[in-house]
Amino acid sequence: MTNQKNVAIKVAVSNSSLFTRAAKKLRGSVITISKKKPLQNLDNNGGSRINGWVDSMRASSPSHIKSSAHSEDLNSWIVHHPSALDMFEEITNASKGKQIVMFLDYDGTLSPIVDDPDRAFMSDAMRATVRKLARYFPTAIVSGRCRDKVYSFVRLAELYYAGSHGMDIKGPSKGSKHKKKWSELAQQVRTVLKEYPKLRLTQGRKVLEIRPTIKWDKGKALEFLLESLGYANCTNVFPVYIGDDRTDEDAFKVIRERGQGFGILVSKMPKDTNATYSLQEPSEVIKNLGTNWSLYNLCNKDYKEKFVT
Ligand SMILES: [Mg+2]
Repeated sequence: MTNQKNVAIKVAVSNSSLFTRAAKKLRGSVITISKKKPLQNLDNNGGSRINGWVDSMRASSPSHIKSSAHSEDLNSWIVHHPSALDMFEEITNASKGKQIVMFLDYDGTLSPIVDDPDRAFMSDAMRATVRKLARYFPTAIVSGRCRDKVYSFVRLAELYYAGSHGMDIKGPSKGSKHKKKWSELAQQVRTVLKEYPKLRLTQGRKVLEIRPTIKWDKGKALEFLLESLGYANCTNVFPVYIGDDRTDEDAFKVIRERGQGFGILVSKMPKDTNATYSLQEPSEVIKNLGTNWSLYNLCNKDYKEKFVT
């Protein structure tokens, strides 16, 4: 392990199984999975590109989807995707004795959708809630934005960050507890990659980049993070993913297929989804995170003894 304040390793792979095996061997390192540069350089591109991105984000956010759904449809949808705020007991029972891992989308989930993407700030109350949450559970932010940008909004070093839809991942900063020289770390990465000839490694100043050629999405990011945390084949892991966007559906699908944990869709409108539960808007997300999950920890003595240090 190294001092994460100074070092980033960018990892990208050519298929998911390759990726997860590589991830296992690199566990404990700072790992950044880098997609193509244009995605990472979103902030430096022209206004038209940003506007297009905002339009796309808005279009995919259910609160902006024009729908002819009647309240009858909404009621019927809610029956199938009940509010997570009302499901505390069910959630508690389902996750009893399991390690909960939290995955949170950013735009439209932790922050409101706004006209200017540079002003999609999360509230101090939401930040405090997420900080508290991360004390109880491993917590990751999974966003379509580049990682640095989403970090500049959230500003919590104790979280995992998966930017660019999960192509760019970084673990929490842990200070210099496990100091290792950069050259040793670089050598460790090279050694692991010798077994993965399809991965292409490039090196910059304290940055190692391993480029992917595969389709990558938030579902794969979720799998990668679970593997990195050591829960790849665990029967007692309970991932919870909260997101509002169609790109979050890949993560909801992975969770459903694993048969572990559940997804929560943030939406005011009925929508086809692989999520199990729903929340209407960011204000309900903060209520859910701040009340249900904190309460969960306080109420669940077994959980505290087993998982909370
Ligand atoms: Mg979103």
